Amino acid sequence: MKITKVETLLLSRMHELERQWVTSRFRVIKADCPIVVIHTDEGLTGIGEACAYGIPRLISEWVDWLSIELIGKNPLDSRIVPHPNGRSSAHDCAVAGIDCALWDLKGQAAGKRVSELLTAKPLEKVRLYASSGCRYDWRIRPEQLIDEALDYINQGLTAMKFRIGTEWSWDGVTVDRFLGLVRELAQTVNGRMELMLDGNQRLTEEQALPIAKELDRLGFAWFEEPIPQLDVAGYARLNAAVDLPITGGEQWTTVEQFRPYFEKRAYAIVQPDAGWCGITELMRIAEMADHYNVDLCPHSWHNGLMGMANAHAVAALPHPRVLELCMIQGPLQWEIFAEKPAIQDGWLALPARPGLGVQLAEGLTERFPYIEGDYMVQVTR
Ligand SMILES: [Mg+2]
Repeated sequence: MKITKVETLLLSRMHELERQWVTSRFRVIKADCPIVVIHTDEGLTGIGEACAYGIPRLISEWVDWLSIELIGKNPLDSRIVPHPNGRSSAHDCAVAGIDCALWDLKGQAAGKRVSELLTAKPLEKVRLYASSGCRYDWRIRPEQLIDEALDYINQGLTAMKFRIGTEWSWDGVTVDRFLGLVRELAQTVNGRMELMLDGNQRLTEEQALPIAKELDRLGFAWFEEPIPQLDVAGYARLNAAVDLPITGGEQWTTVEQFRPYFEKRAYAIVQPDAGWCGITELMRIAEMADHYNVDLCPHSWHNGLMGMANAHAVAALPHPRVLELCMIQGPLQWEIFAEKPAIQDGWLALPARPGLGVQLAEGLTERFPYIEGDYMVQVTR
């Protein structure tokens, strides 16, 4: 089998006004989805979603450049797999899309699911967590966060991650005021869902410590990226101060970038993303994490194809936890597929079909033509 063509489908969809979401100092106005498609001379086609944070146009240019070395090669030859470099997000997202598409091809050629190629006895289904909590506005009605949690419980979801809301300085939000909302949420949920908080690197260590202690007391599952990611020592201090896992690493794309965090015990759970670093590198990171007794629980934002790549990885991990499910991406998330994978009672069943187990719908570029420009706008108040 030989690779005959590599292309990148760039898809977009503007969010309706009520679907736009706001966090920190920005408002997200559109959903993007870059998909790498690898064609072969035997009629098999592999697909992989690259994380749109690498910027779709730039990702597409990198895919074109990297494909020079792929055309004419056997997709099953592991020597052709490109590697993330940890320096260029666009490059690494392109690598990730190619890597996932190659795994999809390998699975199809072997008649096995990707998860079965990664480990002998993978899970058949993975538990999802609702990832959102980024619509509440401290100025308007922060309790919207609690309505949202109740909605997820009604949908059968068993875990939720939320963010810290709009820019705190706009509305004089303090750690105490924030923790008031967190306690109200935890009381309302009352054990019906696991809860996680994502600080998106926005807090200082002085703010993060009392929050971590309170989340620990409330039984949260983890506290993600409380402080700026380069502060390894700060992460190590926070992680040592509480039993609650301090987590992070969604932007890191190589195992080497995780080394200081492993050595200093800075993360209790690492969160690379197959759409950002590829399945190959994610499994390398998982192996090194296991060596340090650290679990891996992937970041997985954006659309369903990236979700499937991360789902197969989770199903194959030594200590599988949960899979992130973005709740605010809109129709683009699953309508890219001819058939949506089954989600029931908060679990995603891995399709029986080999490879990543999904096929693209027809006419995607006509239905979701790429829209130039940034996915978000800055908000000033
Ligand atoms: Mg995060």
